Amino acid sequence: MKGLCILGSTGSIGVNTLDVAARHPEKYKIIALSANSQVERLAEQCEQYQPEFAVMANENAAEQLTLILKNKNSAVKVLSGIDGLETIASLKQVDYVMAAIVGAAGLKPSLAAARSGKRILLANKEALVMSGQLFMDEVKKNNAELLPIDSEHNAIFQCMPEDYNNDLSKSGITKILLTGSGGPFRTKALNELENVTPDQACAHPNWSMGRKISVDSATMMNKGLEIIEACWLFNTTPDNIQVVVHPQSIIHSMVQYSDGSVLAQLGQPDMRTPIAHALSWPERIESGVEKLDFFSLSKLEFEQPDYERFPCLRLAEESIRKGGTAPAILNAANEVAVASFLDNELKFTDIPYIIEQTLLNLPSRPANSLDEILEDDLAARKEAEHLIILRVKQAK
Ligand code: NDP
Repeated sequence: MKGLCILGSTGSIGVNTLDVAARHPEKYKIIALSANSQVERLAEQCEQYQPEFAVMANENAAEQLTLILKNKNSAVKVLSGIDGLETIASLKQVDYVMAAIVGAAGLKPSLAAARSGKRILLANKEALVMSGQLFMDEVKKNNAELLPIDSEHNAIFQCMPEDYNNDLSKSGITKILLTGSGGPFRTKALNELENVTPDQACAHPNWSMGRKISVDSATMMNKGLEIIEACWLFNTTPDNIQVVVHPQSIIHSMVQYSDGSVLAQLGQPDMRTPIAHALSWPERIESGVEKLDFFSLSKLEFEQPDYERFPCLRLAEESIRKGGTAPAILNAANEVAVASFLDNELKFTDIPYIIEQTLLNLPSRPANSLDEILEDDLAARKEAEHLIILRVKQAK
């Protein structure tokens, strides 16, 4: 029986994780759940799954949750804030931590899981984008296990040799082929992109996801963040990663070998597959995902990525080549710009503008410590906010 902590249990990945875990009550015990502000939803999850701990990141929401659970005579202990998140990620009765908080907020609790030597099921790609080397060092130093939940990285992991030792060329690998659907605006006329709405951007053709990652998919910043994530997970550089646009999202990524073989992982676009894979690895468990029916698939298409339509891809590649705190600055500016777009302030096409200007205005530096990374994250947020105010004024 493995003890499971789910950071971000009320989100899209969190709910899918609970769904998979609940299919195997003899294998997984839910020890801790967490949310930011969705009190009612976390209260319902507490009632259903009876964890030992529930954390609300937001202090007021934690007080509300305590009250609700008290009225239900619940034995669940409520904690709050970042300390509460770090506590549940480090509990001795927790074996596996699902890191599914969205954005930079997930960095500290994910790092706490690494420092406590847990199996980390990493959905929160932003944590690795921000602190790549530091995060990987903590995983190694503390004998933690890092298993990717992002469907692409999970697919690559599945296509890697079992004894992959962090060296692509020694394993006979010539390229990682990172697939991406191209999102909802892959074929939309360029001059119409300026006026797309948050709901249009969040209407992903294949995947049902939280709103931030949905916008990232529409700008293809998600693929950019995934290039950075792949560089850290598989110890490589963007030169060895080729983005392949594959609108059907059936192939989740591929690995090309020197003898001409290409190994691909295929499946329905349903996150319960990579979640089940990482929960049970190296075994396999049932996930609830519908089986792939080859006879009902019409066609599988592949295209080059369009760097003019999706400037965020270039910005992400440039930032990982630059290294240091540049990816943290990119990530922070992106989070602020996406939040502003979702609030109907910033135009969709201004998201890459804000990120690029933030990167130009703020010098990056070597990412030697968590403090330096967080300082640059904060500075980038302030700069991006300032640039957005100017941009929005200009547009009026
Ligand atoms: P959601 O927005 O659906 O859920 C986010 C979760 O994080 C919620 O539980 C939310 O709580 C919590 N949260 C939000 N802000 C904070 C905060 N400041 N402190 C603590 N907790 C917070 O996101 P997704 O599930 O879509 O994505 C989660 C992560 O997984 C992201 O990093 C994303 O890139 C990655 N991912 C997601 C995929 C998907 O299919 N959804 C696929 C691959 C990767 P509350 O509900 O209270 O707001």
